[in-house]
Amino acid sequence: MAEERDRLTLLSLDMKKESQREAIEAKKRYEILKQYMDCNRYSHERKHHIVIVGGGIVGLMCAFYMRRQGFQVTVIEKKSFGGGASGRNGGGVLAMGRELAEIPFARLSIELWEALSSFGIDTKFEQNGHLMVARNDYELEKLKKAAQLYTLSGLKTNVLSQEEVQEVLPDIRAQMVGGIFSSIDSQSYPFTTVASLLKVLNRDSVALLSHTDVTGFETIGSRIRKVKTDKGNIGCDTVVLCTGPWTSEVAKYLHMDITITPRRSQIMVTEIVKQRRIQPFVSGNGLYLKQSHAGNLLYGGGGAWEQTGFETANTTFAIQLLTERFLELFPSYHSKQLLRAFAGTVEITLDHLPFFGRIGKYENSYISAGYNGHGYGMSAVMGKLLSCLITDHETGNVQVDDIEELLSFISPKRLQTMKVIGGVPYEPQ
Ligand SMILES: Cc1cc2nc3c(=O)[nH]c(=O)nc-3n(C[C@H](O)[C@H](O)[C@H](O)COP(=O)(O)OP(=O)(O)OC[C@H]3O[C@@H](n4cnc5c(N)ncnc54)[C@H](O)[C@@H]3O)c2cc1C
Repeated sequence: MAEERDRLTLLSLDMKKESQREAIEAKKRYEILKQYMDCNRYSHERKHHIVIVGGGIVGLMCAFYMRRQGFQVTVIEKKSFGGGASGRNGGGVLAMGRELAEIPFARLSIELWEALSSFGIDTKFEQNGHLMVARNDYELEKLKKAAQLYTLSGLKTNVLSQEEVQEVLPDIRAQMVGGIFSSIDSQSYPFTTVASLLKVLNRDSVALLSHTDVTGFETIGSRIRKVKTDKGNIGCDTVVLCTGPWTSEVAKYLHMDITITPRRSQIMVTEIVKQRRIQPFVSGNGLYLKQSHAGNLLYGGGGAWEQTGFETANTTFAIQLLTERFLELFPSYHSKQLLRAFAGTVEITLDHLPFFGRIGKYENSYISAGYNGHGYGMSAVMGKLLSCLITDHETGNVQVDDIEELLSFISPKRLQTMKVIGGVPYEPQ
């Protein structure tokens, strides 16, 4: 019954937990991180070799920003680059809907995505906003409260009336009672982005090793010296794990217990609708949707109802459920042809926060993984931030300690106080 009252798909804000204080904190954190990342750290004399494990969007963005600091960079990918969720997702580069702790990162990431084309990366970036629609007064009240907190956190969020929603989405069913809108939220096209990013990395002399499986690490004391692969060992000064939902497996090679659960999420794609009828990214009624730059309508989403594991086949259940919900929002689209459907694996962590930063056990190892289905949008900021942290560690910039303290809530070190039994986090006695 509760589910029927609330189908606000992308609203992860927990109203009982999140307060004005957290929103103000999030705004401050944005300013600090922006200032921290703005500083130029490039050096052409850098001889330091960074090996990134995992060639999804998170690993590739890390490679892009690390190369821009002057590091020698190698990316090792077990299959094809972007072959995981990174090449098959909704392409939302969103802030609105996220937990307050994620807002500073999401806002900064949108700014970085916008600038990527100036480096020759074709992302098909469009800043058309994100509209969350409310089907009933209960949902609208919740959205109004969320809008207040988001605006306080620095993400300007407007409440829209029924008529205003209709103006933005002329084909939406008239019974929607209102919605909220963030104009900075954006979308991009994953397939083009990954392909174009690879070209730029290649041009910039990043070593890209596909179909190469990382099978272990050679360590000496508290440092990783070599990355072992099925095609031989590779020497390194620093290692970064960007292995998304496979991180639990790879972390075991470092004797680390990092729980990231894989879960399927599915998307349906219609024929091309020539006229652009849907400009913003839209969410609500238990799904999200957009009209791509080419004109196809994409709708989908996952949730706790989806299968846990790496299965990426589509199911008739999801096609039926999501299509019903899509047509509840846009009944006039009932005769649109469904061209295809695809699925990918999202990466769920127990506290819905990513693992980012230094892996305590080995001083020259870092992780950036576990973005809980938001990793496409987050990849730019997390790549740039990590490149700054690694540079500052290398050059001995003391400011890095304050930034690591600020980021401690997403550090893998939080695992030291959080053990897992049967999938439920608990505090050790
Ligand atoms: C249907 C769907 C829709 C989505 N929509 C959005 C959206 O609109 N916006 C958004 O922000 N996010 C979205 N996401 C989530 C987003 O796609 C992911 O969060 C993001 O792609 C994660 O990137 P990643 O690089 O961490 O992981 P992945 O893309 O999973 O990449 C990890 C890579 O590591 C490689 N690897 C694993 N083990 C090894 C090894 N031993 N050796 C070498 N390589 C290894 C894998 O082969 C893989 O390529 C969606 C996801 C899905 C499935």
